[in-house]
Amino acid sequence: MTRPVEIPWQDFPELSPSLEQMIPRVSLLRKHNRKYVEDLDQVLDRARNFSRRKIWPRSLETEEKVFADAEYFDWEIAQEGAKDGWLGFAVPKEVGGQGYLGVGMSLVMEEMCSACAGIGNIFGAHALGFCAIGLSLDMEVVDRYLRRIVDAEKQGAPWLFSLDITEPSAGSDVEDAEALEKAKLSLEAKKVSGGYVLNGRKCFISNGSVAKTHFVTAAMDRKKPFESFTAFVVPGDAQGLSIGRVEEKMGQKACPAAEVIFEEVFVPEQDRMGAEGEGMLHTMVILAASRGPVGAIATGIARGAYERAYHYAATTRQKGKYLIGDQRVQYLLAEMLRQIHLARQAVYDAAFYYDFEHIPKILSEPLTRIATAFFPYPVRRAFQNWVNWDWFYGLMRERAEEKVPITARSQAVRLSSIAKVSGSDTAMNVCRMAMEILGEDALNREWGVEKCFRDAKLTQIYEGTNQINRLAIIKELRSPGISEGIGLE
Ligand SMILES: Cc1cc2nc3c(=O)[nH]c(=O)nc-3n(C[C@H](O)[C@H](O)[C@H](O)COP(=O)(O)OP(=O)(O)OC[C@H]3O[C@@H](n4cnc5c(N)ncnc54)[C@H](O)[C@@H]3O)c2cc1C
Repeated sequence: MTRPVEIPWQDFPELSPSLEQMIPRVSLLRKHNRKYVEDLDQVLDRARNFSRRKIWPRSLETEEKVFADAEYFDWEIAQEGAKDGWLGFAVPKEVGGQGYLGVGMSLVMEEMCSACAGIGNIFGAHALGFCAIGLSLDMEVVDRYLRRIVDAEKQGAPWLFSLDITEPSAGSDVEDAEALEKAKLSLEAKKVSGGYVLNGRKCFISNGSVAKTHFVTAAMDRKKPFESFTAFVVPGDAQGLSIGRVEEKMGQKACPAAEVIFEEVFVPEQDRMGAEGEGMLHTMVILAASRGPVGAIATGIARGAYERAYHYAATTRQKGKYLIGDQRVQYLLAEMLRQIHLARQAVYDAAFYYDFEHIPKILSEPLTRIATAFFPYPVRRAFQNWVNWDWFYGLMRERAEEKVPITARSQAVRLSSIAKVSGSDTAMNVCRMAMEILGEDALNREWGVEKCFRDAKLTQIYEGTNQINRLAIIKELRSPGISEGIGLE
């Protein structure tokens, strides 16, 4: 098994930037909300520590095991993550989690993915899956499903989620309302007594083969995919759900991307998320939240490549001199840093905006907390059957429409797409420059740079290809809300 070159971090303090160095605007924020920023300081320390102590040393070994067997999954790192509290990190405090949002998640993703984007994405894809539920505003489903992550975490056991939206004949098409109107979907949900029956398949699902809970979108009428698109929560052990092919990907190998097959899978009515026909709304709410942190995954890969190249240049001599003294190398390192800095700022533009102006704003309102029954769990359980949850859900949606107008939702979509494209293009550029610095050694696995390069490419594809994200930026500018279907006939 190849061991990665270890960086003696204490000898290179310049490779451990502080929160202010990474996101200069927090110095202003610190003056106004000291506690909030101190929390982020701690998150950064915790994530960096976990990344360097636990992820970095096993990054190549885990990858090699997946090269040998595409279905291999590193349960040990998932358990380490559970012990360190990374699975319930973004679960709302009200259901026992730590309650961090996009800004916290972006910090964690950059740190983890600078060591290994495959391992980082196990935690990222999990958050993507459960945030889709958390942000739905369907509080009964939120409570029932998200609490399981926290309960399992207390036992040191990983309860993983996945987000299942891509289908064999519809990838980009399920990420844009206009495209969805004409999409050819495979998965269909038929209404039956007491619930729905799902038939069809999803593909390329990160964590799909290891998830205990899936967030799934399906058309109820494949001839009307947009109007009938609906979201469901499906347990991984539901009867009729099975795993098909696990992809042999070029990068991010630690995080499996799998086909999920649904054969007569019964989903009770209470596991439908929100109302029928709201699938695209939920999809866009989650994509607007998640594309910022995906930009952070990519920025993390770029930072990892930069750190490896910097360390190489500082410790490798050519013609008796360290490479880092060479101006050609300095230009490259400076350009890498510049691009990383700009990509990171785009990530935090999106993440701050989402956390303070989108759905989280509703969740944090005192009145809403009471109205959505954010009171102690046992009390709520006792009243479970007396509460009309559909009525509650309607109330929440009304509140969301009032407090998060289309202009804000549209701005969130644009900023998150900008962050995703900026991060992933930067990752590709920076990895290329790192390879230039290492020369032939770039192909030597132990330096980890060729792995960063392979990992980087995937960030241009998932969470909407960069083409689709670029289109979203301009489409939303011209017709706010169009991505979630507002204004469609
Ligand atoms: C590693 C990995 C992990 C993934 N994880 C998940 C996951 O967890 N959950 C999930 O649901 N999905 C996941 N996906 C799927 C991913 O979101 C899709 O691959 C992606 O949306 C692209 O869809 P597609 O592959 O069907 O390509 P297509 O949509 O067929 O696109 C093919 C090409 O055409 C371009 N294109 C398409 N439409 C247009 C247009 N209108 N204008 C210009 N260009 C266009 C695209 O940009 C792309 O270059 C993952 C994919 C990968 C590779």
